[in-house]
Amino acid sequence: MLFDIRTLLVAVTLATAFCAGARFLLWRMHVSLPGLGRWALGGASAVMTFALILAYGKFHWPFFLSLAQLFVVAALMLNWDGFRRFLDQPPLRPVVLMSVTALALLWILVAQVHGSVSTMAIANAVLIAILSLLIARELFLSPQRGSPAVRATGCMYAINAAVFLFRAFVTQDSPELIDPLNTNGVAAFMLFWLLCSIIAITLGMVLMTAERLQTDLDHQANHDPLTGALNRRSCALLFEKAVAHSRRHQLSLSVLMIDLDEFKKVNDCLGHDFGDQVLCRFVAIAQQVLRDDDIFCRFGGEEFVAVLPNTSIEAALTVANRLRSAFAIHSPALETRKVHEPFAITASIGVAELKQDEYFEGLLRRADQALYQAKDSGRNCCELAG
Ligand code: GH3
Ligand code: MG
Ligand code: MG
Repeated sequence: MLFDIRTLLVAVTLATAFCAGARFLLWRMHVSLPGLGRWALGGASAVMTFALILAYGKFHWPFFLSLAQLFVVAALMLNWDGFRRFLDQPPLRPVVLMSVTALALLWILVAQVHGSVSTMAIANAVLIAILSLLIARELFLSPQRGSPAVRATGCMYAINAAVFLFRAFVTQDSPELIDPLNTNGVAAFMLFWLLCSIIAITLGMVLMTAERLQTDLDHQANHDPLTGALNRRSCALLFEKAVAHSRRHQLSLSVLMIDLDEFKKVNDCLGHDFGDQVLCRFVAIAQQVLRDDDIFCRFGGEEFVAVLPNTSIEAALTVANRLRSAFAIHSPALETRKVHEPFAITASIGVAELKQDEYFEGLLRRADQALYQAKDSGRNCCELAG
């Protein structure tokens, strides 16, 4: 295949500019997501790199290549920092930023003194390969490494590192091949690769953002925004499944219907914000007391439901009492301006076990009746369903 190298260079510069534009749009559309601003600036730096290579093609000043080298390092560092922020890692430390910039400047200086394009190209290729490997490592080891978009972007950076190492290797053997304007050299292949990799990496960023937004939406749809507990909507299906599983395998299953006592009084005397804090504290305690395979949800207001698979009514009563007493201990007796006698913040719990051939609605109704009995018995207690 024969390529007009200048046309390819213009095509890569234009593609890079469109990708940078897409990254800026992505940033504007989701300003609250961390890292997107760095990706956009990384894209702008990449555009500068190719604009400078184009300028080198016109004026043949090696200084333009050195400057392009600096911009490519900046682009990679900005992308790397962007990935770290996006993946909820701490931003790059200033010491790392300063060391890499110092290293890049040193290599550029050496190449300038040496006065050879090939020395410059080798230094450039090795630096890009190292930075690409570091970014690939960051993506492969991140807590979100299970995401296909994160893995695919990591792969692109790993391949980029291999391609640039190959470039450094080829340059060593036959420096004339590396001249960015040599049509018969590796330049055409490199430009082709850059065209693909820049588009693929930008696509990776867009897909990672889309995946993050979807995860956030799912979380918002399934969780209560105040306490972070599962909401009633998302639990309905989990409850049905747990009940169906217990019925099919003839396993025991119990349910706790929980209601915080005199919560209206808590709000009236101590304020709504304090009431909110109490709800959050109750959820935190419940998550400590319950097992991982128990299903716990905020049923509404100050009411909660816990489904305990593989648990008899006696064991469920023990769990309910543990939860009740842990909450009562954590909730100090309060004396307020409005209520002169101290009062405790407590919970009442109704406990019921799944009967043969019973459905979830029936089980919940019996747990609710037991809860009413607990309220009638003076609150801060647990009652079993008959
Ligand atoms: P009982 O012991 O009989 O359950 O009395 P109660 O006051 O807890 O019951 P009631 O149903 O009369 O009041 C429930 C209160 O819970 C009223 C409502 O303002 C409050 N509440 C519901 N959701 C929230 C919330 O998200 N935050 C706060 N702070 N309060 C809430
Ligand atoms: Mg209530
Ligand atoms: Mg209540």
